[in-house]
Amino acid sequence: MTDAPSTIPVGYDSKIEGNIVHTKLDAAINWMRKSSLWPMPMGLACCAIEMMATACSRYDMSRFGMEVFRFSPRQSDVMIVAGTVTYKMALAVKRIWDQMPEPKWCIAMGACASSGGMYRSYAVLQGIDQLIPVDVYISGCPPRPEALLEGMMRLQKKIDTEHSFVEQKKELIEQLS
Ligand code: SF4
Repeated sequence: MTDAPSTIPVGYDSKIEGNIVHTKLDAAINWMRKSSLWPMPMGLACCAIEMMATACSRYDMSRFGMEVFRFSPRQSDVMIVAGTVTYKMALAVKRIWDQMPEPKWCIAMGACASSGGMYRSYAVLQGIDQLIPVDVYISGCPPRPEALLEGMMRLQKKIDTEHSFVEQKKELIEQLS
């Protein structure tokens, strides 16, 4: 019978330095947010057809983590306003926007959503930014799917620069302080 060893060997990973990532909380949260955008397709007119084309396999939005289109505002974090915003629809768009949880972003896709486009008319809102804050504007009538992808990637870059908590939760912080 042999005596039990006085010391117990412990596992040691000599490469442990390589398995540690130093980062900032903002950078980590923003990386998660931008890599998993769930669009709310607000298709209002012809631009919506190009938005639908963008979601097809040819353009493979899942490469960028943004393919999960949701028709429930509660499950979405980026509204893509695609089409002419008539006054009749404008308040519905605003109401759906209000139902989306923070943090949330908005893309104005095409000339109509950005500025009313060619409809300088009593019936058309001259840009959705008159009702809700827009993060990215995409020009075109209609923009091609590549342009929408480019716009989404610009949004990802913008998210990268945000303060993930302070800027998104101003009202909550005011309530707490
Ligand atoms: S920008 Fe052009 S394609 Fe898009 S909704 Fe307006 S008229 Fe239609």
